[in-house]
Amino acid sequence: MTKRIPFNFPYMTGKELYYIADAHFKGKLAGDGPYTKKCHLWLENQTCTQKALLTHSCTAALEMAAILANIQPGDEVIMPSFTFVSTANAFVLRGAVPVFVDIRPDTLNIDESKISAAITAKTRAIVAVHYAGVGCEMHPIMDIARSHGLLVIEDAAQGIMATYQGCPLGSIGHFGALSFHETKNIICGEGGALLVNDESYAERAEIIREKGTNRSQFFRGQTDKYTWCDIGSSFLPGELMAAFLWAQMEEAEIITQRRINIWNIYHENFIDLESKGLIVRPTVPRHTQHNAHMYYILVPTLEHRTSLIRRLSECGITAVFHYIPLHSSPAGLRYGRASGNLSNTICISDRLLRLPLFPELEPNQAESVVAVVDEHLRHFRSV
Ligand SMILES: *Cc1c(COP(=O)(O)O)cnc(C)c1O
Repeated sequence: MTKRIPFNFPYMTGKELYYIADAHFKGKLAGDGPYTKKCHLWLENQTCTQKALLTHSCTAALEMAAILANIQPGDEVIMPSFTFVSTANAFVLRGAVPVFVDIRPDTLNIDESKISAAITAKTRAIVAVHYAGVGCEMHPIMDIARSHGLLVIEDAAQGIMATYQGCPLGSIGHFGALSFHETKNIICGEGGALLVNDESYAERAEIIREKGTNRSQFFRGQTDKYTWCDIGSSFLPGELMAAFLWAQMEEAEIITQRRINIWNIYHENFIDLESKGLIVRPTVPRHTQHNAHMYYILVPTLEHRTSLIRRLSECGITAVFHYIPLHSSPAGLRYGRASGNLSNTICISDRLLRLPLFPELEPNQAESVVAVVDEHLRHFRSV
């Protein structure tokens, strides 16, 4: 192996600094300037949502969703254990109890058939996390929520440009949270957005995002005073971040297509290893369109994974795993509870391996990653 292959390498379109210089020249540096407005419009068109609001992270967007959902101490919020900590933290910060439900063995998304059993009189919301940019079974989830009067929040941190039954991820539940973190598909370092899909929450969302004030309405001339109206925080990004993000949004289609090309190379080249029973490849249901956020494989055991990561590293290739299930983590044990035995979560979190995937990864580099995995797993001997 001549060239090292990192796990991720952030893609730049080349226009980021030009737009940042433009924002700098215009001297409009605080949030909600012209670039933020361009990003809002793009997101509203792209996701067909009522209102999109940039935030400084997906974590912040989830925290806003928890406030908008009026989550109170002691309320319960259903979510997968196989997710990033922010999914749970946003609700724990409001005093809620995360109730962890197992995932499906195919898409690794929350198992919708196990949600009803987790519902109690205290349940207020369901959080659907679209793992790897593959949509959760949103129609059944929305039906369950409707019949119990629950709100649905989509953690679509990994979901930009992906759809479920033709609907953009993040636009189906009451709220959707997107991430533009450096490791995601469309990036600005640290960034995110809240999609407010139910218009009745739009006004309050603006207020919560602007420190609990009606500043946005005031600047639109809809109110004659600018005052403290509600709880809130500073959830908006500065204009320079929005300028960076705008360059990425302009190329969102190209970025997604480049990722999909690499994803397809992995997927085709791993057919043989899967047919030998040595790995399981990702499942993308026919009614979903993914965005190639991630390429992962499931190997037979934790021992296989540990030795494969070491072997890849010897070849200059960085491959990583996640998540440590939340239900058994120190904070998860303190603040949450598990519904059922979570056997898929426990088993899969030991066996999942994420491979390098970024727009500038060369096809022959992806092929060489496959070759190392193939060789190692075919000759794997337990020690
Ligand atoms: C990345 C990620 C987040 C957090 O996004 P930030 O923008 O870094 O706050 C939340 N949930 C999931 C599922 C993620 O993948």
